[in-house]
Amino acid sequence: MAPVIYPTTNFTATEQLCLDRGEGIYVYDTDGNKYIEGLAGLWCTSLGYSNTEVMDAITEQLHKLPFSHTFGGKTHKPIMELAEKLKAMVPVEDAYIFFGNSGSDANDTHYKMLRYYFNAIGKPEKRKIITRERGYHGVTVAAGSLTSLPANLAHFDAPLEALHILRSDAPHYYTGRQGNETEEQFVDRIINNLEEQILAEDPDTIAAMIVEPITGASGVIVPPEGYYEKLQALLRKHGILVWADEVICGFGRTGADFGCTTMGIKPDLMTFAKQLSSAYFPISASVIPGWMYEAMIDQTNEVGVFGHGYTYSGHPAACAAALKTLEIYERDNLFEHAAEVGTYMQAQLREIFTDHPLVGEVRGKGLIAALELVSNKTTGASFAKGAAGAAAQKACQDNGLILRAVAGNALALCPPIIITKDEVNDMLARMKTAVDAAYAELKA
Ligand code: PLP
Repeated sequence: MAPVIYPTTNFTATEQLCLDRGEGIYVYDTDGNKYIEGLAGLWCTSLGYSNTEVMDAITEQLHKLPFSHTFGGKTHKPIMELAEKLKAMVPVEDAYIFFGNSGSDANDTHYKMLRYYFNAIGKPEKRKIITRERGYHGVTVAAGSLTSLPANLAHFDAPLEALHILRSDAPHYYTGRQGNETEEQFVDRIINNLEEQILAEDPDTIAAMIVEPITGASGVIVPPEGYYEKLQALLRKHGILVWADEVICGFGRTGADFGCTTMGIKPDLMTFAKQLSSAYFPISASVIPGWMYEAMIDQTNEVGVFGHGYTYSGHPAACAAALKTLEIYERDNLFEHAAEVGTYMQAQLREIFTDHPLVGEVRGKGLIAALELVSNKTTGASFAKGAAGAAAQKACQDNGLILRAVAGNALALCPPIIITKDEVNDMLARMKTAVDAAYAELKA
């Protein structure tokens, strides 16, 4: 094997799929086998694999100015244009934007901006951040501490104590309900739990709560109706900022511009990456409101320089990729397309899988979804060690479909948003064959 350290394995993986090229929603391996990329790479290749307009924008920029940094009085046109464009799109008041390279570093940036802001306004004690069980926010030291998946915490002394992170309930009714609790009772219970936690900690010590509008990497969790309304009312009541991590949900994925729009969230801060450039070049964005920025730049605040920034912050080619991607989303009405095809995909998924003996729950919105694979449909009991997820993922691949099993037994689906209804039909037919095969294997 090549001397590569691969992520999230226990270093025993022997079978690998080696991809060679891509076209539209398809990828081909080095043996020439063709697959539908049903997870858009890693929830990111929204425009598919052969968008020459984005490629041309990148190469044009590379020929013109392949690098410029943004430290100490330097800037360049692509970063300024991209900031203006994004500001016009996001539901954050008078937005200011810091650009980075990944979703993880964008969340770390927010963590630091919050600390800097509260120091600047003379409230250094307002430093705790609330996250949720099953949240995924990246793997750098701060973002990794905000993440709640065991494998991302183990071995790393995470969550780092100095970061003051509080963990609250995951808003997943299917796995979190107690007894015969209704969805509304479930929501009231977890919101009450959170309020108790906030009061016990003292609201004046809590800066923000980070949420993925729809949780992605840990199982595509769509919170019940009414959850965000109650959550936001609670956070506002206690002066806690709402920080939306849109790294997966942003730019059409949920059938609207942002996950916040779909789920009715009014965010103070937003994090973007992945579909910001359709993954043609790494780039992320940490968006804050103007009032926060004004306090941070107030020279009378005596907190000194904001010592933060990456060599590749707002890399010109990354900005060019993002600018072209955003232009294409708008020009081709891709958010409307995602809404229409997403509604179709969700209906078909429910039609095909709701009664399947291996499927406990079909969930999702727009073009993101998951099947919860269970060993007992009545009780919702799970397979140990993600056995069903692994079997279904493998069977999908054998049927020319790349999907990903996440959080054990959730089979996640997140195709490029350019996908058509015919391609959805093809994708779901392959998925059905694969889930049937996994069921037969698990029953045997
Ligand atoms: N936030 C969310 C919601 C994510 O899903 C991810 C990655 O999947 C991240 C942050 C981290 O992004 P990256 O892998 O680019 O560091």
